[in-house]
Amino acid sequence: MEKKIIYAALLGLGTVGTGVYKVLKGQKEEMEAKIGSEIRIKKIMVRNLEKAASRVDDPSVLTNDWDEILNDPEIDIVIELMGGIEPARTCILAALEAGKHVVSANKDLIAVHGKELLDMAEAHQVDFLFEAAVAGGIPIIRPLKQCLAGNHMREVMGIVNGTTNFILTKMTQDGMEFKEALALATELGYAEADPTADIEGLDAGRKVAILASVAFNSRVVFDDVYIEGITKISAKDIRYAKEMGCDIKLLGVARNTRDGIEAYVCPMLIPSTHPLASVNDSYNAVFVNGDAVENAMFFGRGAGELPTASAVVGDVFDIARNIHADCCARIGCTCYKNIPVKKMTDTHNRYFLRLHVEDRCGVLAEMTAVFAKYHVSVAQIIQKETKAGDSAEVVVITGKVREGDFRTAMEELSGRNSLHKISSMLRVYGE
Ligand code: NAP
Repeated sequence: MEKKIIYAALLGLGTVGTGVYKVLKGQKEEMEAKIGSEIRIKKIMVRNLEKAASRVDDPSVLTNDWDEILNDPEIDIVIELMGGIEPARTCILAALEAGKHVVSANKDLIAVHGKELLDMAEAHQVDFLFEAAVAGGIPIIRPLKQCLAGNHMREVMGIVNGTTNFILTKMTQDGMEFKEALALATELGYAEADPTADIEGLDAGRKVAILASVAFNSRVVFDDVYIEGITKISAKDIRYAKEMGCDIKLLGVARNTRDGIEAYVCPMLIPSTHPLASVNDSYNAVFVNGDAVENAMFFGRGAGELPTASAVVGDVFDIARNIHADCCARIGCTCYKNIPVKKMTDTHNRYFLRLHVEDRCGVLAEMTAVFAKYHVSVAQIIQKETKAGDSAEVVVITGKVREGDFRTAMEELSGRNSLHKISSMLRVYGE
């Protein structure tokens, strides 16, 4: 018999949980026509019942007892929006084991324990969907698993953290220094009280692990991703990059190369003509390259109450349709390959260097001789203003070189008296 009402439970009623509650409410009139059922939230688990009471029409749905949800046979879908590893992991595994479908936005958990969760869903023939875990409201997991499944994906990269993109935009457009831009992001609610996960690139690293796994059909976990944040970027770097026709963005990059997967997050120079260079403020965008589709770009809100809820509700509706068609667990884990992940030192990149060197004849020749020894070619070199004293500022963009060789060259240069300071060392995106 067709279910006229499908019961769901929310775990968490914070930013995203409240958004999901609102979006479902806004869809109430159309839901049955759209997906064949009403989705009704039967229970909401929170820690603080009092705090949550004003966010719902009927506070009797609130609980802090997980067993009330787990042991309720009427609840078919659990929507996990608590965040963090525990108790989210234990709750999701138990729900899947009990034959309930699960939707989660929890990138911290999925980037580390994704395989375990997907294996449990497969074993019990239920759905585990996580569209909101990467780039919030932007559809990217389902497009990769379904619409783009006819491709061998070569690259998935993009701007997947809104906080850092907002900060870099302010540094670029208003000439702010990092600390000033971070303070503004905090004041406007774009940065959390503890911004570490965003500014150190950890949040983006989790999303890159998930994106790489889905795009290349091979498991990449958070620890496989090389990560650098944006805390050392200065307004001067951004100005010099602009002079060289580039912008600086925190990019998450996953690339499937002949000798393995490259997965990293770092601030990079990107040509100002690239579509990602004009993705500003707190917006996100993911750029994919596949052997059939070539290039495609997905752009939108990567976080926030309603944009993230939009992705979560899309997953819930998908599950409702699967329940009606009796075809749950149709698309589970898609990691059927075992491709090694390369060390960062084995990737090949171009580099932007801002150096302070001794201001005398022959110093640049000395520097390029060390570079040549380690196969580092110089593509562009600009001598900036000479400072008071004996130091000159030099900006270099190198040709493509293996990162391990580049690091050895820089170590050797650092030992020379003629190199006073390495002020910046950034990678450059592109050929
Ligand atoms: P949040 O505002 O901090 O809300 C978390 C909610 O979970 C609160 O209602 C909290 O209840 C509840 N909770 C936490 N631990 C709990 C526990 N042990 N038992 C019961 N309830 C618990 O978080 P959020 O921003 O909505 O994020 C939720 C998830 O979505 C995270 O995985 C996050 O990474 C992901 N996500 C968020 C965004 C975004 O824009 N915020 C975007 C994409 C993905 P109390 O308030 O009672 O403590």
